[in-house]
Amino acid sequence: MHAVELNPPGDRPGLIVLRPLTGADEMALAVAPATPALVLLERLGEGLNLAELSLSQTDRALAGIYFMLYGTQAECRVICESCGEKFEFNLDLAQIIRDQDAERPALPDGDGLWRLPGGAAVRAPTQSDLTGDPQSLAARLTVEGEADAGEVDAFLESASPVLTLDMDASCPDCGSSAQMRFDMASYLTRRLAAEHPFLVRETHLIASRYGWSHNEIMALIRDDRRAYAGLIEAERARLSRRQTA
Ligand SMILES: [Zn+2]
Repeated sequence: MHAVELNPPGDRPGLIVLRPLTGADEMALAVAPATPALVLLERLGEGLNLAELSLSQTDRALAGIYFMLYGTQAECRVICESCGEKFEFNLDLAQIIRDQDAERPALPDGDGLWRLPGGAAVRAPTQSDLTGDPQSLAARLTVEGEADAGEVDAFLESASPVLTLDMDASCPDCGSSAQMRFDMASYLTRRLAAEHPFLVRETHLIASRYGWSHNEIMALIRDDRRAYAGLIEAERARLSRRQTA
């Protein structure tokens, strides 16, 4: 079990608990429709109701899944538009979250609302706000009084920050600046999807050696499945050394 705090220091507690990832979760991700990362979060978050989370909290929960699996560093790969060379750099997601918290202009009140200087009250956007007309989003988030859409957007961007980050990266080969966007949900999805061949191989090894059913192997937590597969590979290597000796 892995605990993740979704709210910034000083705010109401927003602790959620994630259960360990299994092969069945990884398979569900592979066949999920448009938002696989949310499908994964719904499966792993104990008693979690996604509709109640702000987009900021959702991204922090997804970051929590990423931290549980890979640690806090995200490895970004960029292809330079000027010279075509590939380059890589690391993002420290834990540090980005701390920086976002330090830059929040204010914490919400007990009802989850912020008061803007003009008196209007605004709330943080949730997943369901994304399905409505983007032009009227600021108006939907203004629950009391009136405020300029640009002001609402700018305020909530820092008061309820998401992990979609637009960055400039400098190419180490030609020095030109490359624009890149990091998005927590798609990054987590891509990272896990890239490991799908390992899931297949580990399942094959375990089924061949122990004769367990597909469902039994899919129910194993990822770390255990990898440990079993590692033992089987080591055993195979010993046997093949003995045969060639
Ligand atoms: Zn370049």
